[in-house]
Amino acid sequence: MLKRVVGILKTLFLPSLIVDQLRDIPLEFLQDSGYSVFFLDVDNTLLAKDAKQVPLDVLNWVQAVKGMGFEVVVLSNNSSRHRIKRICDQLGVPGYYRAMKPLPFTLYTWCRDRGISPDKTIVVGDQVLTDIVLGKWVRAYSVLIEPVDKKFSVIRSIQREIELKILASLGS
Ligand SMILES: [Mg+2]
Repeated sequence: MLKRVVGILKTLFLPSLIVDQLRDIPLEFLQDSGYSVFFLDVDNTLLAKDAKQVPLDVLNWVQAVKGMGFEVVVLSNNSSRHRIKRICDQLGVPGYYRAMKPLPFTLYTWCRDRGISPDKTIVVGDQVLTDIVLGKWVRAYSVLIEPVDKKFSVIRSIQREIELKILASLGS
């Protein structure tokens, strides 16, 4: 029984990879493994939630990723159309706000329209309960990234604590 529960939790919550920053993501490996699309979270993944300007190292990383032939799509639960559009413009990529992660419908629709299999995509984000659950749901390669801003709101820090406990108890 316990084994089954751990198995289910792993299926839901355990990312394919945990990294400190975007440049730790193994691009060549992912390309060689047949992955072709990045779905990137915005807040606390690309920049702090209150920041407006995408940092230069993030801009450079996205350029490098596109230069290798990956497609890059922004997928944010942020409700500000204006914020997400401005960030997409800075990055030169398409994107979605109010994506309702972990619900998979935006990702599924994007993939279906382009004939891309969701299991050939990479989902990157700082939150297990939205980004990683989405990645696991669609069988993408899921990357949990250390949040840009380490100061969390109270609710956020409680959620983070639960996430870290879950990850610690699963092991990798
Ligand atoms: Mg985030």
